[in-house]
Amino acid sequence: MTIPKIKNLEFREVTEDILLVHQIKVPDQFSCCDGLLILPKEGRNSNTIVLDLNIEPKYSIEIYKKLGPISHYVCTHGHMDHMSHVYGWEALNASIHAPFSEAYYLTDLYNFYNGFGFSEMMDFHTIEKFAHINKYFSCKEVNTFEPADILKFENIEVETIPFKGHSKAHVGLYLPREKILHISCLGFDQSEPGADGFGPWYGFEECSIEQYLDDIDKAENIFLEKSKFLTSSHAYIVKNPDKTPFEYMRNKIKENQKLIGTAILNSKLSSNLEESVNLLLEQDLIFQKKKMKSFLKKIYTFWEYWIIKKHLQHTYKILEIEEEG
Ligand SMILES: [Zn+2]
Repeated sequence: MTIPKIKNLEFREVTEDILLVHQIKVPDQFSCCDGLLILPKEGRNSNTIVLDLNIEPKYSIEIYKKLGPISHYVCTHGHMDHMSHVYGWEALNASIHAPFSEAYYLTDLYNFYNGFGFSEMMDFHTIEKFAHINKYFSCKEVNTFEPADILKFENIEVETIPFKGHSKAHVGLYLPREKILHISCLGFDQSEPGADGFGPWYGFEECSIEQYLDDIDKAENIFLEKSKFLTSSHAYIVKNPDKTPFEYMRNKIKENQKLIGTAILNSKLSSNLEESVNLLLEQDLIFQKKKMKSFLKKIYTFWEYWIIKKHLQHTYKILEIEEEG
């Protein structure tokens, strides 16, 4: 096949009729994510199917012009970088599918604000500003599925795999016939081999480091046992049996645990979890919040609050295990 050429988009061939697509320049940090295009293939799918490719509508229109109708779009979870531009695919008549309950974040920003607990620490206007810089617009109608459901579009199967450590509805996608595992936003974010990134993201109340470590094990097993290729939302294509993504993600969590562990040793922390989190939060361990102004500072403070809390909770769990053992 000839790979389409569109300015500001990068197309990488996973197989001869499945492409990983990346928007190069983006409006803001949480505005876009890479995803897959399943091109039409006789006896399989008559129209293009799009998996979690959140790019600006001007580019989805270009794809439409080059590749023709798009029948379905699958969103993997309700984070901003996975839902801001999905309305653009809907406008091209693709039916939109997203996991329950985060599917409702695509149809109403207020559900995103409430569902992720932003409402406990900031006003809605802060989130409206965040949505604005990422060019979010809501979808009209979204079909919901349950994480772990198998989606079938004509003769293509898309297995959805719960990876709940990242968000309660977050799913990876597995194409059994094509042997492609898309781990979505699990935390492998190396743009090229050896590059550095942020790693796994667990800056919400509903996240858990223990669940995250289980998810990484689960993804590793699916990849090594039955996949040829691994793709994700912010990284290059990995071929079996390369274990880099899993080692990278585990290592990132470990580094954060060490960073926060060292800060705990150096601080006079109280025995109260809440007070300890707030004391560590002032140290700008994860994000340089002191340099931030306006609404973004509130949002980054919220994320860092939960990242620190997750690590403190993880430490408590480890200590309990040791005491019992
Ligand atoms: Zn995410």
